[in-house]
Amino acid sequence: MTAARPQSAQLSADVGRSKSDRLLIILGDQLTTTAPTFDRIDKGRDIILMCEVEEEATHVASSKQRTVMFLSAMRHFALDLIKSGHRVRYIKLDDPHNTHSLASEAKRTAKQHNATSILLTYPGEHRVLATFEDLESDLEVEIFPDTHFLVQPEQFNEWADGRKSLVMEYFYREQRRALGVLMTKQGKPVSGAWNLDKENRQSFKRAPNPPEPYRPEPDDITREVMALVERRFPDAPGRLADFRWPVTRRQALHALRSFISDRLERFGAHQDAMWTEQPWLYHSHISPLINLKLLDPREVYAAAIEAYEERSLPLNSVEGFVRQIIGWREFIRGVYWHQGPEYADRNALDQHATLPDCYWTADTDMACMHHAITPVLDHGYSHHIQRLMVTGNFALIAGIHPRAISDWYLGMFVDAVDWVTLPNTLGMAMHADGGIVGTKPYAASGKYIKRMSNYCEHCRYDPEKRTGEDACPFNTFYWDFLIRNQHPFSKNQRMTMIMKNVERMTKSQQTEITHEGRKLRERLGIGGVEARS
Ligand code: SF4
Repeated sequence: MTAARPQSAQLSADVGRSKSDRLLIILGDQLTTTAPTFDRIDKGRDIILMCEVEEEATHVASSKQRTVMFLSAMRHFALDLIKSGHRVRYIKLDDPHNTHSLASEAKRTAKQHNATSILLTYPGEHRVLATFEDLESDLEVEIFPDTHFLVQPEQFNEWADGRKSLVMEYFYREQRRALGVLMTKQGKPVSGAWNLDKENRQSFKRAPNPPEPYRPEPDDITREVMALVERRFPDAPGRLADFRWPVTRRQALHALRSFISDRLERFGAHQDAMWTEQPWLYHSHISPLINLKLLDPREVYAAAIEAYEERSLPLNSVEGFVRQIIGWREFIRGVYWHQGPEYADRNALDQHATLPDCYWTADTDMACMHHAITPVLDHGYSHHIQRLMVTGNFALIAGIHPRAISDWYLGMFVDAVDWVTLPNTLGMAMHADGGIVGTKPYAASGKYIKRMSNYCEHCRYDPEKRTGEDACPFNTFYWDFLIRNQHPFSKNQRMTMIMKNVERMTKSQQTEITHEGRKLRERLGIGGVEARS
């Protein structure tokens, strides 16, 4: 028999008024006791402050799934801290004294306990960092490196400074060498190749039948948070009927083991494939668990390597997965801090259309968009190719403002934190940073979606047509996008072949596509691409 888990009511337990010199603040995406701040506090004397503030759930339109994910995981983590003897002051969303701002809750708690200093792990967002830096006029604020990550911002800056462009592949190779991951004794990549993506672009020839992922039933704490979110944010996007994300460290480890044992083997070959009614496929779905720090990246890649060595899993699957953890994830975070807060305002292609309503409802007759957005509303999730090549690609070629789509990703996904969403969206999906993250735009026509999914078989549009009533909107917008960006793309060597196809078009063909693109934008009610005066 195990002891009954303390319930959420215990979070309101009075921590007393006794003096504490230090206040340790733990943010919603910092749910780990391995942070160096824990070595600095006096357990049982210093106060740990965790707050559910409206400011964090509303500065972009946060989906119900995302808000429940963060709040439930925070509550479970706080209860574990209390059980292990920490003094935790936990401010719930519906606490009548809650001022709903991180800064004022920190000041209020510091005053109550006569605390003179605040300890904090480096946050995942420029805005939050600025909030705590501003507190320095009232309190001593010590900000510690986030050792969850494998590479610190200073190390990344050292690597990045002086380079003409920041190519992830080179960063990744250095990571492989430094960590000794999938390397031979002679310092070469195992199998001789660094990257096996050529083997990882298979579509499904017939309906796939992947194993069910581990998805725990919500416990009392999660159900209480779900009711709170429904009550407090009834108009927030998304649905909660099926919330089954892991929210504890134990559940997160279970989810990792389930992926490694059941799906990693087939992850690689089909990582870019899509299929109707199959949101999970062979993907890991652990990004929210790593980004909230319920999992450590070291244990994640180590588990994949161990499976490779013990079960002889295919290298293309293991390498593709490990690259996401030690390469892409660390690279993206490095770019976020290297580029600074101004990065959020980049709009290199000068696009200004608004986000179509279907991003909030999935109500569209474009089958691919419907099937890529529905899991976002149901689960706060879609896999990386649905994000990059369907919802992101559509925003890029339709001329949506990069911040409109970036805020959508930040608010709607359970794994979204600013450091990960911004460079992935502005840089990778929208080419809005002018080529820092991706050296060419990830623009694609309906042909790509047809090749990688069965979506087009269920669509009223024709993936072969680029103009006309039944033309695939991805085709119309793709060619319209290339035509209107001929000037910037003519300077990009990686676009030369593609732009030759535009040059081969007659002037009247180009005019027709431009006209159809404009009509399509009107029909979607998203305004023009150009800035409004
Ligand atoms: Fe999407 Fe076009 Fe295919 Fe329809 S035809 S599913 S809009 S790519």
